[in-house]
Amino acid sequence: MNTLNADLHCHSVVSDGTLTPEELAQRAKAQGVTLWSLTDHDEIGGQARAATAAAACGLDYLSGVEISVSFLHQTVHIVGLGFDVDNAALTEGLQQTRGGRSQRAKEMATDLARVGIQGAFEGALKYAGNPNLISRTHFARYLVETGVCKDTYEVFRKYLTEGKPGFVEHRWANLKDAVRWITQAGGMAVIAHPARYKFSANEELALFTEFKGHGGMGVEVITGSHSNAESANYAATALEFGLAASRGSDFHSPEESRTELGALPDLPAQLTPVWALLANRIQRATAPITH
Ligand code: AMP
Ligand code: MN
Ligand code: MN
Ligand code: MN
Repeated sequence: MNTLNADLHCHSVVSDGTLTPEELAQRAKAQGVTLWSLTDHDEIGGQARAATAAAACGLDYLSGVEISVSFLHQTVHIVGLGFDVDNAALTEGLQQTRGGRSQRAKEMATDLARVGIQGAFEGALKYAGNPNLISRTHFARYLVETGVCKDTYEVFRKYLTEGKPGFVEHRWANLKDAVRWITQAGGMAVIAHPARYKFSANEELALFTEFKGHGGMGVEVITGSHSNAESANYAATALEFGLAASRGSDFHSPEESRTELGALPDLPAQLTPVWALLANRIQRATAPITH
């Protein structure tokens, strides 16, 4: 069960990835993934295409999303898995969360212009497959295109992050709301890439405690952005908080991503995989064999 090649975190052109849901499904299949989820940022507009494409190429599928949340002045990402994609409160909540991205992008461009980088709003928009979902990733691509930086990793080191040119603080969804939208739509809320946040030990304790209190049930232990030591650390956290463990590459693009779809270590054997608790939410490519 823990050796299943599940990839429950990636992005398509519906948010800040460069592949379509169909291309991702085929690529996941080719990489040996058997259970897949497309988790675009703050948007479920790609879910029907992803589920159809998964079925067509023989992949089991869980609906997915990655919601941007503001918690203690940082942005935290909450992945939702296995929810009902037609749920009205979730749809409405995501729409609210997306709102404000255009205004933020204009402010980011104004800030970049102050350090001599012109035309960044229009430049970033060109890369946004979904204009309502203009993100820092699209700015990063523009800064690479114009030769300001050699790759998107350098962009995030020098620009667009706290204290650097082009960073604009933004108010996303509340933790409580995001967890509720997901769980009340029948899904499971999962804390994404926990090692990426810059919380103190007490702040992190608050995040996990409040998340659980609101009904959150999972944490990404194995992700493309964790070192082995970080995975081991959050495996212990999952056990300590009684959380199920998830696994996902956070793949965005063949050109940019360091972790390929499905190319991740197995979940540690002592953890409960999220897919064990979501068995009845999985859209099976083939009917399970019953005796
Ligand atoms: P946004 O939702 O517009 O704030 O954009 C956040 C996205 O930027 C993430 O989902 C990643 O795809 C991308 N990203 C890549 N590297 C970093 C980094 N070092 N810090 C923050 N975001 C990054
Ligand atoms: Mn992203
Ligand atoms: Mn994320
Ligand atoms: Mn992601």
